[in-house]
Amino acid sequence: DLILFWHRRDLRISDHKGLASAREKSSQLVGIFCLDPNILEKDDVAPARVTYMIGCLEKLQQQYQKLGSQLLILQDKPSQAIPKLAKALEAKAVYWNLDVEPYAKERDQQVSEALKSVNIGVETVWDQLLHTPDEIRTKSANEPYKVYTPYWNNWSKRKKQKPIHTFSQNPTGLNEEQLKTARKNGIIDLPTPKDLGFVWENELVLEPGEEAAQNRLEEFCDRALFEYDEQRNFPANDGTSQLSAALKFGVIGIRTVWAKTLEAMENTRSDEARNHIKVWQQELAWREFYQQAMYHFPELANGPYRDHFKDFPWSENQEHFQAWCEGKTGYPIVDAAMRQLNESGWMHNRCRMIVANFLTKDLMINWQWGEKYFMQKLIDGDLSANNGGWQWSASSGMDPKPLRIFNPTTQTQKYDPEGEYIRQWLPELSSLETEDLVSGKISSQDREACDYPEPIVDHKQQQKQFKSLYKEQKEAS
Ligand code: FAD
Repeated sequence: DLILFWHRRDLRISDHKGLASAREKSSQLVGIFCLDPNILEKDDVAPARVTYMIGCLEKLQQQYQKLGSQLLILQDKPSQAIPKLAKALEAKAVYWNLDVEPYAKERDQQVSEALKSVNIGVETVWDQLLHTPDEIRTKSANEPYKVYTPYWNNWSKRKKQKPIHTFSQNPTGLNEEQLKTARKNGIIDLPTPKDLGFVWENELVLEPGEEAAQNRLEEFCDRALFEYDEQRNFPANDGTSQLSAALKFGVIGIRTVWAKTLEAMENTRSDEARNHIKVWQQELAWREFYQQAMYHFPELANGPYRDHFKDFPWSENQEHFQAWCEGKTGYPIVDAAMRQLNESGWMHNRCRMIVANFLTKDLMINWQWGEKYFMQKLIDGDLSANNGGWQWSASSGMDPKPLRIFNPTTQTQKYDPEGEYIRQWLPELSSLETEDLVSGKISSQDREACDYPEPIVDHKQQQKQFKSLYKEQKEAS
């Protein structure tokens, strides 16, 4: 009996719950991936992300081939392409791992109905989280959590599953005859990003594929993990794991990642080291927190969670927005970060917070503009994490702390005290004195000589104005 496994954001073989359960039921097991126009034709797709994804698919195809099976590529609406292929191949069932995003839930429902209408079975499991969205609920009211700290307190106490051994015996794939049928029913060769209309000319900062992700995890857990809480806020340092794209596309299993943190805990007696590991575990829990929030409160995807932001009089100044996008605000830390995003497709977390704060609190531009721009650029762009990060920065989200205003200069003094990060991404400023760079007090003469703009707004003034607008909105709501 043939089983098809539909890969989506689980582009790997090991530690894979859905694949393991499909293999248990049948020895003939073939992977499918559907290039969905509903996703790829949206206006928030990043070329770097598509390039990474296609690279991962290429690697996954090679892995399937090694096993003696295939990963088949489709390019159409999943609710049409998948049932058509499954029916033509007389597959017994289609399996997949569940997702939290509103579109994914709706799409899966449609695919499931279409398959059932042609008598093909559907099996689904949760794989991408250590705890499913319904597993962690408040003790008092049995509701989903809206606040991170109590969520973490509950989440962290629970036993986590160990990595799954996906299969001991390799599956078999399609025979020649079936392959011919597949080709007549929508199967295509894996396209290049360019075929799909995406061009990413710069180097890909993260190497695609399961092996690269596992190496990255190993390397991080051998070294930087033990200093994480000290190093993670300095964007010039390589202090974080850079596993976000691998985690977004499920190129590494979350149970494998967690097991590594436990191993590291066991291998150290130092309380200090253990604290660093715990802080990294907390980041993994943020990922799960935002995913369960998106699952239970899909309205988050469409706008601010808090009422007083529903009619906020955001500025629509296109020139300001363009300056922010291009890294030309005249605030070096903001501009360096935006250049990192534009040139590498990735941005350090501290800088994501700084630029998001600057867009919303200094330029007073709707966070949703920034959210979309990030999705258009980020290699790890992910609805739940990105939306969570933006709502947190805009103070419009679930986070109870009412107002958070970052001062770009203070942030620079704390987190890029030598101006290393600024110099890396704004080479035109590299000859300036560190003190000038970091304090933001660059003379007009120097700005002109470096072809670097004057600040487009005054932080102090903007901060005052934002606070008063915020107060008005809060009182009115
Ligand atoms: P590490 O510090 O090594 O953390 C390990 C993993 O934990 C990350 O790979 C990620 O999967 C998860 N994680 C860490 N911090 C967060 C967080 N705050 N929220 C959710 N998950 C987290 N992360 C994305 O994966 N995709 C996004 O589109 C995204 N957009 C963001 C937008 C804004 C405005 C902000 C403030 C944050 C955003 N983040 C996003 C969260 C965070 O910045 C990145 O996950 C992190 O910088 C990735 O680097 P890393 O893998 O080295 O992280």
